[in-house]
Amino acid sequence: MKLDILAFGAHPDDVELGCSGTIAKEISLGKKVGIIDLTRGELGTRGSVEIRNSESAKASEILGVTVRENLDMRDGFFLNDEAHQLKIIEMIRKYQPEMVLCNAISDRHIDHGKGSKLVSDACFLSGLVKIETELNGEKQKAWRPKVVYHYIQWQTIEPDFAVDITGYMDKKMESVLAYSSQFYDPNSKEPVSPITSKNFLNSVKYRAQDLGRLVGVEYAEGFTTERYLAVNSLGDLK
Ligand SMILES: [Zn+2]
Repeated sequence: MKLDILAFGAHPDDVELGCSGTIAKEISLGKKVGIIDLTRGELGTRGSVEIRNSESAKASEILGVTVRENLDMRDGFFLNDEAHQLKIIEMIRKYQPEMVLCNAISDRHIDHGKGSKLVSDACFLSGLVKIETELNGEKQKAWRPKVVYHYIQWQTIEPDFAVDITGYMDKKMESVLAYSSQFYDPNSKEPVSPITSKNFLNSVKYRAQDLGRLVGVEYAEGFTTERYLAVNSLGDLK
């Protein structure tokens, strides 16, 4: 099954926090989008693997993604090595996306920067025909996505471009709040962490609003890119 966009996240909820407004918008424009989570977020302070599995299924439904898979890598300890790269290459060749979205290039959680480099390296390697992979007994064809963009999550990173997500902010918040075990809940008896504060939950909206302010729209999500951006004409820029 070919997808237009494949979004990777080190943990279930990374994609929702970083780029779900963009994903919801692209889906409404007719694009086929899939999400691949590298781990089940099993080291998260709150919740459990079972709870997070059902939360990510709910978020996927809210966004309307075509597929969502989990690679069961080890939260906190996965590496950017051959074994892990091959797992990502299998997914890229399976879904043949034109575009890949992945974690922030560096962030507070060490898995984000690590996952970002792992996915980006695998996108390059996936295009090399002499790297052979099989899925369900069938040899896969080499495939390299045209572009890799990194969303922005916890840390403030200067974006290379912004996507106008005006009209999709409610959907973004709805998909984030599907992870009810993870974020601000005044009734929770579980331990607190930086992402369970009210300030963090509010920041998801006010940061999108602030970036929107800077680019002249209501809400926006920022991305960084590994190569120069090109447009067909100046008029393509907002
Ligand atoms: Zn994360």
